[in-house]
Amino acid sequence: MEGRSNMKKPKIREIKEALRALIKGPYTVPFPKVPHKPYPGFRGAPKFNPDECVGCGACANVCPTNTIEVEDLVDEEKGVGKRIITLYYQNCEFCGFCQECCITGKGVELSQEFDLATFDRKSIFTRVEKELALCEICGKPVTTWDHLRWLEDKLGYLAYTNPQIILATHYDIEEIKKKPLRKEIKGRFDQMRILCPQHRREVYRLEERGKKK
Ligand code: SF4
Ligand code: SF4
Repeated sequence: MEGRSNMKKPKIREIKEALRALIKGPYTVPFPKVPHKPYPGFRGAPKFNPDECVGCGACANVCPTNTIEVEDLVDEEKGVGKRIITLYYQNCEFCGFCQECCITGKGVELSQEFDLATFDRKSIFTRVEKELALCEICGKPVTTWDHLRWLEDKLGYLAYTNPQIILATHYDIEEIKKKPLRKEIKGRFDQMRILCPQHRREVYRLEERGKKK
């Protein structure tokens, strides 16, 4: 009982705090009445940088809350496809792993933005779209064209060991874009095509053993 009555009496420290607040003003910031400017190094909402992101999807693999979605949309008739990568803020904890593990180092970066309150959580996101390189035989996505070009840049002359990367660097040449698709594998020259891992294996097997599986 004695303890309770003591609790009701304000402590000296609290009285001092109250007096100081009366003179100096409150410690709290008047947000949202006055816009708040976060301190440097503040970890706010991550944002994609479309010029630096190559669409590899590594950030989605490391995200601890699985809030980065990678969607590959393929139009089989036209033989084109795009990869859409969406980071939904609803489950983002601003940990920064996506930025830390981004293969280009700048594809996604934490911003200073923190005021994301909304009634529709799915409406708050950051998104990037990239054109897909499709397997010339089965039409499955291999990766994005930008990812292949980025690999060429990283590998330098070693990129000449990989036909897909070399093809990607020439992809802007209209003649290459228009070349007719051939669905079957005929010989070693098929190596110079965009192929998924399964069909690239088949080309190598054909070359080494002289027959299809
Ligand atoms: S900051 Fe963390 S939780 Fe948010 S998207 Fe990046 S990795 Fe995922
Ligand atoms: S380049 Fe970076 S931001 Fe873009 S998909 Fe890859 S890891 Fe994510």
